Amino acid sequence: MKASKMLIPTLKEAPAEAIIDSHIYMLRAGLMKKLVAGVYTYLPMGLKSLQKIENIIREEMDKAGAQEILSSAIQPKELWEESGRWKKYGPELFRFKDRHDRDFCLGPTHEEIFTDLVRSMVKSYKSLPLNIYQIQTKYRDEMRPRFGLMRGREFVMKDAYSFDVDEKASNKSYMEMYRTYDRIFTRLGLKFKVVLADTGAIGGSTSHQFMALSEVGESNIIYCDNCGYAADEEKATSLLVDNEKETTKELALVSTPNQKACEEVASFLNVPLSKMIKSMIYFDEASKKYALFLVRGDSEINFIQVVNAFKSSEAFVRLASEEEITSLHLPLGFIGPKDCNLDVFIDPAVTKIQNGVMGANKKDYHYINANYERDFKGTIMNLHIAHEGDFCPECGAPLHSERGIEVGQLFKLGTKYSEPMNCSYLNQDGKLVPMYMGCYGIGVTRTFAAIIEQHHDENGICFPIEVAPYPLVIIAINYDDNVQKTLADKLYEELSKFNSEIILDDRDLKAGFKFKDWDLIGIPLQIIVGRKASENIVEFKIREGNIKVELSYEEVMQKMEELLKAK
Ligand code: ATP
Ligand code: MG
Repeated sequence: MKASKMLIPTLKEAPAEAIIDSHIYMLRAGLMKKLVAGVYTYLPMGLKSLQKIENIIREEMDKAGAQEILSSAIQPKELWEESGRWKKYGPELFRFKDRHDRDFCLGPTHEEIFTDLVRSMVKSYKSLPLNIYQIQTKYRDEMRPRFGLMRGREFVMKDAYSFDVDEKASNKSYMEMYRTYDRIFTRLGLKFKVVLADTGAIGGSTSHQFMALSEVGESNIIYCDNCGYAADEEKATSLLVDNEKETTKELALVSTPNQKACEEVASFLNVPLSKMIKSMIYFDEASKKYALFLVRGDSEINFIQVVNAFKSSEAFVRLASEEEITSLHLPLGFIGPKDCNLDVFIDPAVTKIQNGVMGANKKDYHYINANYERDFKGTIMNLHIAHEGDFCPECGAPLHSERGIEVGQLFKLGTKYSEPMNCSYLNQDGKLVPMYMGCYGIGVTRTFAAIIEQHHDENGICFPIEVAPYPLVIIAINYDDNVQKTLADKLYEELSKFNSEIILDDRDLKAGFKFKDWDLIGIPLQIIVGRKASENIVEFKIREGNIKVELSYEEVMQKMEELLKAK
């Protein structure tokens, strides 16, 4: 392709709203253009790269025996009512009505559609297992669309769904996808970690996320170097440093006038924060229930686990307001689990506190010497946020943390969708039983951004060759010069025989502008035809690392044959 015919809308500066490198460079390199918040138009160079990423994903999915389909983004409310998610899925769901007043949504994910599809077509165990997928545009009305393609309101996802006869077979399908994701992200040139994840609104029992490592990632990964434990912060658990052992003392009511915050009470009573029992009331709008949550005074509560305790979704759960707490006849700042008629959820670290301090449900009073079981009870579940420096829940070694970009997630769904939606099959005994499902997403456009986050320098993007919009550009420093033109044209013609995706920069621009453009766009291989064209010598440059060598025509042809063939 000749650069003079291409749309190359590079920019000197990115708009101020772009603060992370991938966003800045995708705009500056003219890979995409913003339409409205979280919605972009993919321009020619951007689309080329995106299609290459899609194709790698497609090849690996096909190799794993999955089959591609393409469904609509438009989904009818009825299917979402069958799964129970029409009510549960909060304001992220783009909902609309047609001219007949029927309700629809734009799919943020497609469990309902695929379950419906399979139940209508698969009747017997003989047709299982089945894994079908699509690469398709998703819609989520994100509260804060940001960071370019990282968190869009419209984005491309690869979503796959597996259907199996039982749990054992479903686990096998899950592991096959796990290995496939490993291959995909390796081919895409990403450094990544696989972590245990929370199952969230999608549901199910087990889940893993693939995290591209990056400081700008929105996820916090907690991991252990000793045993390999790794989990997303939402899911991670940890062991806290224990308090010193002591003998159990008798519960006693003490006056703590106006001492409400945990820190205030701790210093007033001169006890360490790790012996304080922090009590918080949350409200779930879906079930209209309040519940009390207890964590140690020196830890923070994990909101996602609070949501899980209610079996609700993030959009519906919030801290109870002061007025609501008053209406429950509880004194704000002095709340505790003893004689409290709400459901109580307790972090395991709280159960280990000996002679702790907790609110007495009486204004200006706390209890001291509170001990789990003897003085208060409840449901035990992991509720505190794990931090670097806490201890591994598996082996007890110190934990570390690192930022990551969630590029993919796998879920074991069990019969969560197949049961309510009657996605069943006749087994070998002629009995109708629900299928076991799994679902597997890759954020294709987010992966695109993650690749750029990991592959750039101060001059722009450094695409790995597999996902570059074009692998090679031939830059004639002065295309008006006949000798340079002849050599550049000859290289272009000959190299196009190996690979059809070669650019010839024939633009009437100063050389400096041409170099800047291709470095910004990140074309991995560059041949510069300049003054030494008369000696049949060119400069060959590798974008990543800015490595340059002079090569003769014959040498460059040989090098390119190696690098471009079969790419
Ligand atoms: P997040 O926690 O980042 O909001 P999610 O866990 O809700 O994402 P999934 O339902 O697991 O997302 O979707 C599958 C994949 O789609 C994610 O792993 C992620 O890579 C991508 N994805 C999700 N939301 C967005 C978005 N708003 N913009 C771009 N990609 C997204
Ligand atoms: Mg996810």
